[in-house]
Amino acid sequence: MSEAVFERLTLIGLGLIGSSVARRAMQMGGIAREVVACDLSPSVCARVRELGLAHRVEQDPAIAVAGADCVLLCVPVGVLGSVAAKIMPHLADGAILSDVGSTKQSVLREILPILRDDISLVPGHPLAGTEYSGPDSGFGTLFEGRWCLLTPPEGTSRDAVMRIERLWQLCGAMTREMDASHHDRVLAIVSHLPHLLAFTICGTADDLADETRGEVLEFAASGFRDFTRIAASDPVMWRDIFLNNREALLEMLARFTEDAQAMARAIRWGDDAFIVDRIERGRAIRRSLIELKQA
Ligand code: NAP
Repeated sequence: MSEAVFERLTLIGLGLIGSSVARRAMQMGGIAREVVACDLSPSVCARVRELGLAHRVEQDPAIAVAGADCVLLCVPVGVLGSVAAKIMPHLADGAILSDVGSTKQSVLREILPILRDDISLVPGHPLAGTEYSGPDSGFGTLFEGRWCLLTPPEGTSRDAVMRIERLWQLCGAMTREMDASHHDRVLAIVSHLPHLLAFTICGTADDLADETRGEVLEFAASGFRDFTRIAASDPVMWRDIFLNNREALLEMLARFTEDAQAMARAIRWGDDAFIVDRIERGRAIRRSLIELKQA
């Protein structure tokens, strides 16, 4: 217990991600000697208490962060800046401030201008999640074998980065450092665009005439079912991600639209070699994912 990475870890936002970190930290002494949970919502605070996900639960962020050597923001990216501004004057001297937000340039844009000189900012993004939200949806093994990308700004204390790496490794994740803009481009193609497509295809199905929609639901093939699972994700979280990674997402969408047009042309003109090549490339990507144990 004495060699825990942090003396006091404060988690703000106890939804899927925050409650999963809390569960892991409570199960595993090496992460923090004390876990403090803070959420805006009184019902979330009550549930966190009931579930025993922290040593202490506070609704007031100023009280929650006092004396913590690490504060991890687990709130939607649209409110990260305002939550950081609210807690900044109350952070302990020399504390580490981190987050789990799905977009990383926006975090630097919003927090760097208000960052105190003595605070180390180590933004992070665990590439793990489900379509569920709230404190009941979390689980301590969520991050096992998954990546957590860290995007510390230049000049961040190496000790702070190493301690955040250690936190995620104790959560079972593998870590890698990356430039924030590179992170946002990569995530636009591997996560944000697929979600945009899932929301759109479900919307299109929903726009169809009533009797057709009934049949869509009744006879949903696995392809459509997989899209509906992704489309069940939290609307606030995804609205915030789209708006905070606007440029990279629009760029990937434009490239995708061109490629979809090329596929449409191949289908129209019976270009079977092109169609087979595209499908083969999809299969190869799936095989690589399985080999990398990320499927
Ligand atoms: P979630 O389950 O919806 O949890 C978010 C929690 O933050 C909720 O309890 C929410 O309370 C609370 N909250 C909202 N505004 C707050 C504020 N101003 N102060 C304090 N608490 C506040 O969301 P999540 O899936 O854990 O996502 C949290 C973060 O992780 C997001 O930034 C997301 O981009 C990132 N992330 C998500 C995934 C994923 O797959 N879900 C994966 C990686 C990273 P209310 O319910 O009352 O609003």
